[in-house]
Amino acid sequence: MNLPLIDRSQQHGNKIAIATTEGSFSYQYLLQTSAKIATNLLNNTKDLQEQRVAFLIPSGFQYVATQWGIWRAGGIAVPLCISHPKPELDYVIADSGASIIVAHPNFEALLRQIAQERNLRFILTSENLPETVSLLPEIDIARRGLIIYTSGTTGKPKGVVTTHQNIQAQITSLISAWEWKSEDSILHFLPLHHIHGIINVLSCALWIGAQCEMLTKFDAQIVWQRIIEGNLTLFMAVPTIYVKLIAAWEAADKDTQKKMSAGCAKMRLMVSGSAALPVQVLEKWRNISGHFLLERYGMTEIGMALSNPLHGERLAGYVGKPLPEVEIQLVDERGNVVSPGTSGEIQVKSPGVFLEYWQKPEATAKAFRDGWFCTGDFAVVENDNYRILGRMSVDIIKTGGYKVSALEIEEVLRTHPHIQECAVVGVADSEWGEIVSAALILQSGSNLSLETLRSWAKERLATYKVPTQIMTVEELPRNAMGKVIKPSISQLFLTR
Ligand code: AMP
Repeated sequence: MNLPLIDRSQQHGNKIAIATTEGSFSYQYLLQTSAKIATNLLNNTKDLQEQRVAFLIPSGFQYVATQWGIWRAGGIAVPLCISHPKPELDYVIADSGASIIVAHPNFEALLRQIAQERNLRFILTSENLPETVSLLPEIDIARRGLIIYTSGTTGKPKGVVTTHQNIQAQITSLISAWEWKSEDSILHFLPLHHIHGIINVLSCALWIGAQCEMLTKFDAQIVWQRIIEGNLTLFMAVPTIYVKLIAAWEAADKDTQKKMSAGCAKMRLMVSGSAALPVQVLEKWRNISGHFLLERYGMTEIGMALSNPLHGERLAGYVGKPLPEVEIQLVDERGNVVSPGTSGEIQVKSPGVFLEYWQKPEATAKAFRDGWFCTGDFAVVENDNYRILGRMSVDIIKTGGYKVSALEIEEVLRTHPHIQECAVVGVADSEWGEIVSAALILQSGSNLSLETLRSWAKERLATYKVPTQIMTVEELPRNAMGKVIKPSISQLFLTR
């Protein structure tokens, strides 16, 4: 039996699966090419038997065909991050125990060296593929399919292993909740070593037979141009991307702005996730596009878990309710389910929850309690909707006996007329445990003293939530997904 994702695509034959600046590629062509890639990977063996294949290919057809080729040969796909320097690539290759590296010629020098040092098979995507296809193995969906490396707040990244069954469950939950159809067309500009780009955008599109147009990277002007052209139906991005699109819209002339907004109006759904969506960004985007962004919450280990509704009322600042097949509970420090209205850690059970951290049985065991995956995120249910309070390790600040949510404080600070963007962290303090500290990007030409900010904030926040120290910065440190790296900010406060 083939994998359902592959089997299903046979129905879509000549339909375009992937569109890029280099051309358009049908489902049929994707099937043929991935079978050839699988044959090449198999190298006269019958089944890769879950060998790990690390690959580094810019977003585009070759990426997708290679991912499918690895799956069809019975391997585990280990996508590498385009922006990683050699030591980080080497870490992922070594930790995953990859036996094969597939590289685009752009990365040949870097990766061939690692392959030589580690004595691994090295394949370039520019090499000729075999003309004939060998018999490909049958893949049970319970087998491992993917390892995505996720950086925790402490320690080295861990490999999150999902089976084909997990991947399928993550896909079908979104297909049903957001009503994906084969007529859909989505623009892909997200990194392809992360769940958002791999599952929510690419795999959902291919599962349903939709068209996925891939840009090699995000560029606000190009994305707006494609929106203006008006044949997209779905749009998924992280909050920082919406911020960049807003800036580009504001910088455009009136006539272009109108065209940009008209392009948005033609789409059926625009989604935000992977980090908290500031309410101000949601509102600005609503004015520009007419779309009330659908915010959802998810994680590499669990796929997507909570979502505002496709139909029905979406609440700003909330991530909605559990997605199909997902069970959620909020628990206190003793592991008891909290009463409604009380905050607690999000725990998740669903067929989309990952299998294990790669070769880390202790970390895997620690992450589960009674079959529930402990996310490390804090939330509260209000008006039947979940509100994310942040990650317990970095966003929940313990100060003078209170627990405060950095995300909640950030929402308020962003409404200050002189503050353009901010990040709130807890900084270790011998008296208070932690003190609320805010890194601020000010509007150009603005000044803000701690005293002025504090007296303004005291009218809007409980006194213990008001920052006791601030720092003005030019930029906030962010990772490849645009998420603020909070430990670096705490460090800035400690070392200044
Ligand atoms: P990743 O595994 O890289 O996708 O990161 C998952 C983490 O991103 C979660 O554990 C949350 O801390 C955060 N996250 C994802 N979606 C949201 C959201 N809508 N609001 C707030 N935080 C989010």
